Amino acid sequence: MPYIYIGDSKIYYILKKSKKAKNVRISIFKDNSLKITTPVYSSNLNIEEILLSKSDWILKSIKENSNNFIIEDSADFNILKSEYLKYIEGRVIYFNSFYNFRYVSINLRKSKTRWGSCSLNRNLNFNYKIYYLPQKFSDYVVVHEICHLREFNHSKDFWNLVKVKIPDYKEIKKELKRYSL
Ligand SMILES: [Zn+2]
Repeated sequence: MPYIYIGDSKIYYILKKSKKAKNVRISIFKDNSLKITTPVYSSNLNIEEILLSKSDWILKSIKENSNNFIIEDSADFNILKSEYLKYIEGRVIYFNSFYNFRYVSINLRKSKTRWGSCSLNRNLNFNYKIYYLPQKFSDYVVVHEICHLREFNHSKDFWNLVKVKIPDYKEIKKELKRYSL
């Protein structure tokens, strides 16, 4: 089994090449096993380098002892940009057919800190990585930002709006914290 050293910790990992994967995903499970999933065609990835670049996150996740996930950039962003946008636009249109709030544009972002944001100018911004989240999380992010078009805050009214389409938003919001950017 391959392993790396992070500081003094010897960390074993499972490397999985997946036909479905379009990006690199690192998962740490409750038993502290680490799995890295990469696309089949990405033969030139330096796995060790990727893992070392996430060493703080890996050590933190092991300490937390819960299931944690991180999506790491591979070189695909420009190739997949239109696919990301198409997917996100589709979800915005789907949910906004209910809310009917006016927005100016939908933009892709490569942020290290946020899944999404909504500007005062009514632009909806989404981290392209929501494409890689399980759908309940990406839908939550989409609905969250759409609702900011009406309530530009996190008031009770705001959460009530979110709740209409995402009734279990509280759990989803909590669980989303396991996914790092
Ligand atoms: Zn918000």
